[in-house]
Amino acid sequence: MFSCRSGAALPLRGAVFALALASGFGAAPLVAREMPEAGAAAAAKKPNVVILATGGTIAGAGADAANSATYTAAKVPVDKLIAAVPQVNTIANVRGEQVFQIASESFTDAQLVQLGKRVSQLLKQDDVDGVVVTHGTDTLEETAFFLDLVVKSDKPIVVVGSMRPGTAISADGALNLLDAVTVAASKEAIGQGVTVTMNDYIQCGRDVNKRTNIVPSAFYSQWGPLGMVVEGKTYFFRSLTKRHNMSSEFDIDQIDSLPLVGIVYGSGNMIPGVYDAELQAGAKAIVNAGTGNGSVPGYLVDKLKDIRSKGAIVIRSSRVPDGFVLRNAEQPDDKYDWVVAHDLNPAKAKILAAVALTKTSDTKELQRIFWEY
Ligand code: ASP
Repeated sequence: MFSCRSGAALPLRGAVFALALASGFGAAPLVAREMPEAGAAAAAKKPNVVILATGGTIAGAGADAANSATYTAAKVPVDKLIAAVPQVNTIANVRGEQVFQIASESFTDAQLVQLGKRVSQLLKQDDVDGVVVTHGTDTLEETAFFLDLVVKSDKPIVVVGSMRPGTAISADGALNLLDAVTVAASKEAIGQGVTVTMNDYIQCGRDVNKRTNIVPSAFYSQWGPLGMVVEGKTYFFRSLTKRHNMSSEFDIDQIDSLPLVGIVYGSGNMIPGVYDAELQAGAKAIVNAGTGNGSVPGYLVDKLKDIRSKGAIVIRSSRVPDGFVLRNAEQPDDKYDWVVAHDLNPAKAKILAAVALTKTSDTKELQRIFWEY
């Protein structure tokens, strides 16, 4: 694991992120410096924030400044990311660790657990006030929700990515990262659950989804953002009402692996064999990303009842981005012993199912968990 610590505050420099990265990630490697006494006193007053880097587009690089979509993710190491946004040092004492260097679509459950344990470990330290996780945007919403469920800490945890690599014209990573450090260092963020800073917004890690694969305004929650970050100040307007972090019954310290949960995407003319393949692969639960209200086609009802009778859990989620799945509405969940995913999209339902299954496979308990988290 790579580790670095940034030094005293540096002057503001416009577009330094893109320039540092465009020039062959040419920012000088950071070295520990002797701090003058005044500097040491100032550092003592600032919160301590650790940036855990995992890769993604925020660490991506393209061949040309016009390449906003054609680039390689997970290239730039954490020390270069921090050096390219020296403004973070005016907000906090920042140090970085390279946990992984991957595109987020390549995240495995084992890596999720490893990351969760590291976040938890750091936040138990008195000299850490907040953690930022830099992450690819593809599965950022899953990691944010996972950390929300399993890290027992009130301290701010901020997951951040970017839609454009740092080498692109109008790269969004620098401001997103600065905003992430701002939130991680802020007292207002304590107890707010895992947040995501993208495009000036403070999004709720539980609720937020990536809605488009192109523009910086890609992240959206049907319940609205929690607030905004503007010029180094946080503005919170609402709070998460669901159980999370300190009020969660789950704890990463008690989780060493996650059970396999599959997702089957609903459409017209489905084939039952997909469900069999999930079970054969060892899935303990299947999230049915059904049409509309998480509907299961009539010709598949027996298949899903059969899956349930064999012990696997059936969870009805929906492929519809907004709204929430109603229990016992069009389909008799009580009768079939199915669980509904409430407002969680299939990917988030998969995370909650996997975490919940580490404790129980009782469907009543699982449904309670889906209502409460
Ligand atoms: N595929 C990239 C990733 O998730 C996309 C991004 O970061 O925006 O790592």
